[in-house]
Amino acid sequence: MAHSDHFRLLYDARGDLYSVMLSAALWERGHHRLEATIHSILEVMEPSVRPEPLAEWEDFKTYWDFQYPACMKVVCGNCKTQTENWLSDPAKPFRLKSAQLGGLVVFHCNTCGATVRKKHFKDHICFEFSIAGSCLK
Ligand SMILES: [Zn+2]
Repeated sequence: MAHSDHFRLLYDARGDLYSVMLSAALWERGHHRLEATIHSILEVMEPSVRPEPLAEWEDFKTYWDFQYPACMKVVCGNCKTQTENWLSDPAKPFRLKSAQLGGLVVFHCNTCGATVRKKHFKDHICFEFSIAGSCLK
């Protein structure tokens, strides 16, 4: 069997590539590596959304020991989106990513994709943001 019999590019009537076909023999031999590669590419193309860690948020509120009442406000310094209550805002401008008992609560801004960090200190709150791919190495 020639290599081209195991791996075929399929074109439509206009000559545009629309699919790729692998033989069963090639798939059986390499599916572990192929699936891992395909999933990592798909994760970039279509990131899977994990549920908001609301239990972390509830723990954070339970052990609240800051000198001010719980604050639900979130502000994105990148696109200026803000809400007075990220949890009850029907527009859901922010998505909770994590809440740590030490005071760091992280959100994803649904408007611009920035990561918003809400840092709770003993007597004040700071917001910071970063944009995916904005860090230089
Ligand atoms: Zn934003």
